[in-house]
Amino acid sequence: MKSIKLITVIICTLAWVGSTTLHAESCCEKAKKDGKACAHKCCIDAAKEKKVCEKCNPKKTEEKK
Ligand SMILES: [Zn+2]
Ligand SMILES: [Zn+2]
Repeated sequence: MKSIKLITVIICTLAWVGSTTLHAESCCEKAKKDGKACAHKCCIDAAKEKKVCEKCNPKKTEEKK
């Protein structure tokens, strides 16, 4: 029963990917929670331009297309 093993592996992988994306917080979000500004250079540069760093904060949901 190779297929069952394969399905289990796929489910485990999906669960792992799902949990990591759900719990994934960007460095900036973590810093915000602690009441700090993100210390990453790329984020500081983005913050100077009143933006969020797109490298560390990829858009999670599609708002408009
Ligand atoms: Zn950051
Ligand atoms: Zn960044």
